[in-house]
Amino acid sequence: MHRISRSILVAATLLCASGLGAQTKAIDWNALSRESESLLAEYLRINTTNPPGNELLAARFLKGILEREGIEAQILDTAELGPNRANLYARLRGNGAKRGIALVHHMDVVPAVPSSWSVDPFSGAIKDGYIWGRGAIDMKGAGIAQLMALIAIKRSGVPLTRDIVYIGNSDEELTSTGGRVFVTRHADLLRDVEYLITEGADNLVENGKVVYFAVGVAEKRTFWQRLTVNGVPSHGSRPTKQNPVPRLVAALYRISQYETPLHVTPGVDKFFRDIARLYPEPQRTWLSNVTAALNDPKAKEWILSDVWWNAFLRNTISLTGLAGSNKTNVIPGVATADIDVRLLPDQDSSEVLRTLQAVVGDTAVHFSTLLSPKTPLESPIDTDLFRAIEKAARDREPTAFVTTPMETAATDRPTYRKLGITTYGFSPFKIPRPEIQRGMHGNDERLSVDNLGYGVRFFYDILRYAQ
Ligand SMILES: [Zn+2]
Repeated sequence: MHRISRSILVAATLLCASGLGAQTKAIDWNALSRESESLLAEYLRINTTNPPGNELLAARFLKGILEREGIEAQILDTAELGPNRANLYARLRGNGAKRGIALVHHMDVVPAVPSSWSVDPFSGAIKDGYIWGRGAIDMKGAGIAQLMALIAIKRSGVPLTRDIVYIGNSDEELTSTGGRVFVTRHADLLRDVEYLITEGADNLVENGKVVYFAVGVAEKRTFWQRLTVNGVPSHGSRPTKQNPVPRLVAALYRISQYETPLHVTPGVDKFFRDIARLYPEPQRTWLSNVTAALNDPKAKEWILSDVWWNAFLRNTISLTGLAGSNKTNVIPGVATADIDVRLLPDQDSSEVLRTLQAVVGDTAVHFSTLLSPKTPLESPIDTDLFRAIEKAARDREPTAFVTTPMETAATDRPTYRKLGITTYGFSPFKIPRPEIQRGMHGNDERLSVDNLGYGVRFFYDILRYAQ
């Protein structure tokens, strides 16, 4: 299977290369794959655990590689981001006929507990066909695939109508200061950028076969709230009406009973229509028109029983933090609860807050916003980049389709979307779900050597097709 698909790809490349004019040099994909492998191993050896990050070392490493290839690169924002931290920026120039494409990854990784790993998480070990290390999936592997695709474009001399920008950000895993500082200080570097690709969607791979490639066009927005009730502190042996705890509990109960309205956004509508083919009747019909299905009690119950789909279709509220007295015999002077509210991209946060206050119906319960929502992210689908991804996907996996699930967690994408850039989450790898589940932020994170080579070439084709 592997050998057959590889020879088909070689033939396709020869065909395409001949159409691109005499200057285009053929690429030795096996050699490029080996080169990518050792660079990823080297990248994983640079410990960018956040905190503290130390992304400056990673930025220097990437800058060195880019400069050897004759691609201009800069280390930015060192003063703003603090000691040993930085953002990296590089640009490969096209003829300027169209607007640019940015490839963005974050250079930091989450902490690893070495005793829980079967290899040293910062050894960059290559064994059993995998490159092992913290960040292999999230997201140094993608960072190297983007980098090598860019280098392959440069070396082969593919004519570019769009500049290709390459960005490495610091601090995505903690407070996203890298992306925010970059966008605030260097909006000029992004002025001509039309499209941006970073993380934010997982492909579905079953039994080694890709069912679909996911392009993340939308994500939920965090709108965390703290509810506070003030009272009068006293002794628990003599109950009073000024105990803030029962009042807070009553408010929380009302919120827990409140059902947020269902609402179908464009990317989610497409997602359900796309995956409908995977289901038997009557589910297939339900998913083909999810708006209609939500009016059918049986269909609605089935759709909302999936925790992901439920979150795709409404604002969600999880009651999470609670604080009252820390002594059983003391009535506290104040009681608070933190609730995790997540909004669909097109929701008006102040309206949602007013609704929540009305649901609680008690002016003694004060709401304060702990985390304001970021810029709404719902990128358009009818674009050259989306079509390029679809074409490159069809080349290698003719039976798979490209679809647009909602991201329920938060990424750096809204930060870039704020500048008007069409921003997609996309992974060029075919990683089985259990491997993502186990490795990402977990133990024994690893990326197969085959996947890395596959991803480099996937990005290369996307960039080529999007010209
Ligand atoms: Zn990540």
